[in-house]
Amino acid sequence: MNDDLLALTHTGDDYDKYFGAVVPPVFMNSLHIFKTFEQFADTDPFDEDKFVYGRVANPTVVIAEKKIAQLENGARAAIFSSGMAAAASAIMATCKSGSHIICLRNIYQPVRRFLSTFCIPKLSMSVTWVSGQDLSEFEHAIRPETSLIILESPATFIFTVTDIRAVADIAKKHGVRTYIDNSYCTPLFQKPLDLGVDISMHTMSKYLGGHSDIIGGVLVSKDDTLMRSIMSEMREWFGGIIGPMEGWLVTRSLRTLAVRLKQHQETAMEVAAFLERHPKVRRVNYTGLGSHPQADIIAKQQTGHTGLMSFLLDAPPEAAVKLINELKLFGIGVSWGGFESLALTPLYTASDEELAFLSLPDGRGLIRLYCGLEGTGNLIEDLEQALNRL
Ligand SMILES: *Cc1c(COP(=O)(O)O)cnc(C)c1O
Repeated sequence: MNDDLLALTHTGDDYDKYFGAVVPPVFMNSLHIFKTFEQFADTDPFDEDKFVYGRVANPTVVIAEKKIAQLENGARAAIFSSGMAAAASAIMATCKSGSHIICLRNIYQPVRRFLSTFCIPKLSMSVTWVSGQDLSEFEHAIRPETSLIILESPATFIFTVTDIRAVADIAKKHGVRTYIDNSYCTPLFQKPLDLGVDISMHTMSKYLGGHSDIIGGVLVSKDDTLMRSIMSEMREWFGGIIGPMEGWLVTRSLRTLAVRLKQHQETAMEVAAFLERHPKVRRVNYTGLGSHPQADIIAKQQTGHTGLMSFLLDAPPEAAVKLINELKLFGIGVSWGGFESLALTPLYTASDEELAFLSLPDGRGLIRLYCGLEGTGNLIEDLEQALNRL
């Protein structure tokens, strides 16, 4: 029995409520009314079957929340209008003015900017930036005022990983909370809460939405009290709940997540192997390759690999730009997780200081590839013709 597949396809279904419809309706309403004042006064907005007002909770959104909570083995999930709304809410819920945070250097860049241009100057927080690849960095960085460790594994750019259980153990020993961006793996290929992490976050704009048609994000935890404060304080006060239509689209998309990921993985494995063999390619960064320098940690905590990778050509950075311009099937763009393949040189215009901060001296020529659903043969053919033109 695969519980994940049952969660994706059926958790949250309640056919009796909706005339046997296999697809639940979109509750496009802001308000729920009551027969008596007593019923109104008795309603706990945290109750999954009671609703008062759309900024607090929505019945369509709750269906997708039940699926994510089950997939991550969490107590409760809260869906937001974007991944960044979820990320900022998690930081606000776990930190306060003066808090110290330990954060990965190559964290998703808007999270880094939120910390460095908002949390540090406006809320007097402080941040120690770490590579995430050496456990002693975490031990040494912890201070009495440390509130949160922020992880992303695999992380943006070269897909380095962090030993999640080991960091969660260190954090617990010191009473520090942990947060991870689990968007790359999705709950199907990595379950950080089971490894001891307090909060797992996903952007729903990528694989969970899966069709490049929605923006959304989610937080999930095994800690019911923490989720209550995230939902009834952060989400309610900042007003960051996802809209009913987007919430409905998330449920639509989750039903096919497992088959989509299986295909992304199969294609990316073949694309990565093709690139690794190609004489014009210097190095390929993909968690599915045996050559990944942290393959032992990956084997401990990931049960799969998805469609994202990066690689370096054996040529100056200008060649990387020429290559992505020559690609016909891979669009040039940010994001990933949809049906369409994408390519980008994300650090081509980065400053020397930025590349030094990220410890990516060769970063300018880094090409990020996202393998979509156009077919493995078609994508490899496209890469081959573009490489031949260099
Ligand atoms: C896109 C992305 C986010 C932010 O999600 P939004 O829905 O765009 O706000 C966070 N983390 C990762 C890894 C992402 O790729």
